Amino acid sequence: MQIRQINKRFNFDKYQTFNQDINPKQRAWIEVKGKALEINVRQLRTKLSKNCQFMAVVKADGYGHDAKVVSDYAIRGGASQLGVATLKEGIKLRSFGVKKPILILGNLYTKKDLIISFKNDLMPTISSIRECFICNNIGKHFGLKFSLHLKVDTGMSRLGFESNKFVQQFEKIKSLENISIDGIYSHLSSADAENALDPQSITQLQRLKFNQLLKQINLDRNNEIKIHLANSAGMLLNKDFHFNMVRVGLSMYGYSPLAKIDKNLLLKPALFLKVKVAFIRIIEPGVSVSYGGKFVSSRKTKLAVLSIGYADGVPRNLSGKINVIHNNKLYPQVGSITMDQMMVDITGSNEIRIGSTMVLLGSDGDKTISPLEWATKSNTIPWEILCSFKNRLPRVQVD
Ligand SMILES: *Cc1c(COP(=O)(O)O)cnc(C)c1O
Repeated sequence: MQIRQINKRFNFDKYQTFNQDINPKQRAWIEVKGKALEINVRQLRTKLSKNCQFMAVVKADGYGHDAKVVSDYAIRGGASQLGVATLKEGIKLRSFGVKKPILILGNLYTKKDLIISFKNDLMPTISSIRECFICNNIGKHFGLKFSLHLKVDTGMSRLGFESNKFVQQFEKIKSLENISIDGIYSHLSSADAENALDPQSITQLQRLKFNQLLKQINLDRNNEIKIHLANSAGMLLNKDFHFNMVRVGLSMYGYSPLAKIDKNLLLKPALFLKVKVAFIRIIEPGVSVSYGGKFVSSRKTKLAVLSIGYADGVPRNLSGKINVIHNNKLYPQVGSITMDQMMVDITGSNEIRIGSTMVLLGSDGDKTISPLEWATKSNTIPWEILCSFKNRLPRVQVD
């Protein structure tokens, strides 16, 4: 009787609220500096000639930053078009009230998807004559013109018309009355390579091929068609790659894909990855830390347990290779990174407490840790680091 009394169920129904007001900075989160994005776009645009437009590439939820925040600030910075990868990403931006032209960089090949694209005022990338006919029929059905961009392959071997068939097919496409060609483009495969400016590099050969095709289709000089080839790296190489639009992702987020950086270009990282200290413990010398016991303390060690792990998108193969910043000081991460937590050696610090905030990516004082550094250490590229962050990390806009 007495035991039953003690075990009487707590009345959850009375207290439970499903829209719990949890502070987004309660555990681990990403801070996004909209203003940094705006400044980066403005700065990058100063490198373009007057009539060259800037497409902000906001695919993959704005490289993990939050597509809405990125789009809003990129537009403030002067972006005139947006690039997404998927139909859904485009629709999401429209639902947020984004009004600028949006290009879907991926391929839509069913009539159904192309109709949805049309109805949401999204421009598809078209790589075949078959899809041109579908778009033309959709335009005809609605008594309107379907705006799209044609893509031609110049060496990436991904999407795009075969370059040797493009000129002939373009003649046919030009005669279709219910499509409107808003752009013609191609994509560089190796613009971030060290030799990109050598005359025989893949990048220069791609540029030459693209130029040749443009010459052959004999575009009317006064046309409004956007001609574009460059991603961030291509844009930063030189103006020969600009044509009248560039498609910029990585550098707009604050990171240069080129090893040689223009010293006048001060790109500002827009992303800060932060985490709370959830627990602190002191271990004796010779004690192992985390799965596999790969780290063993060589002295009496103070450990901070941080609430972030590989399920948040921190690559596990960075275990024991990264530092974390607190108050302008670096602290080494030790032991295997676990799914939801990781340990940091904070021996000697008296200022770090439970609830203190530490910085994994971004700056604090004069210390900075960049996704470029993580990418090198985990043998990948910064694009992949940025796109790995999971939805478990709330995105918090700061300015
Ligand atoms: C992702 C992407 C870009 C942007 O590339 P960055 O290197 O991030 O500037 C440009 N064009 C296409 C087709 C893309 O898929």
